[in-house]
Amino acid sequence: MIMEKLLVSFNDFKKVNKLVVRNEKFLFDYDKEIVKSADLSFSFEANKYDDVVGIVGKVVGTMSFECSRCLKLFEQKIEIPFECSFTKEEFEIDVAEEIRETIIINIPMQPLCNKDCKGLCTVCGNNKNEKDCFCEQKIKDEFIAEKWSKIKKIKI
Ligand SMILES: [Zn+2]
Ligand SMILES: [Zn+2]
Repeated sequence: MIMEKLLVSFNDFKKVNKLVVRNEKFLFDYDKEIVKSADLSFSFEANKYDDVVGIVGKVVGTMSFECSRCLKLFEQKIEIPFECSFTKEEFEIDVAEEIRETIIINIPMQPLCNKDCKGLCTVCGNNKNEKDCFCEQKIKDEFIAEKWSKIKKIKI
């Protein structure tokens, strides 16, 4: 996949000390296993102070994930601040890379549609958030019944 680059360098500050970028689309090169889709934009301000450029900004938008328990797709709004800087010797920085890293650190590795998500039934695959199938309970009951009948047999 082609990575988007967003280079900010000392050359951008020949005439100004401040650079403002507002609501630009951000193409996030994401891991399809975790993030199913992303609609993101970013804003930042870069300020030059002598030999250092400091950048503060945020990335906002929506991302969709697959719940790691019930496999349902769900959307989540995100708003992630980021900060970085570079010196005159370093000369430039790829802000897109900084944003990408910030997003990766902040997104859940095991996304949950809801922190109380009940997941899928291990017997029939039913989504237990939508209806209760009692399969797991049934198996437990059958196990107890079988055990009980064995005990009764021993008694006889
Ligand atoms: Zn879920
Ligand atoms: Zn079930």
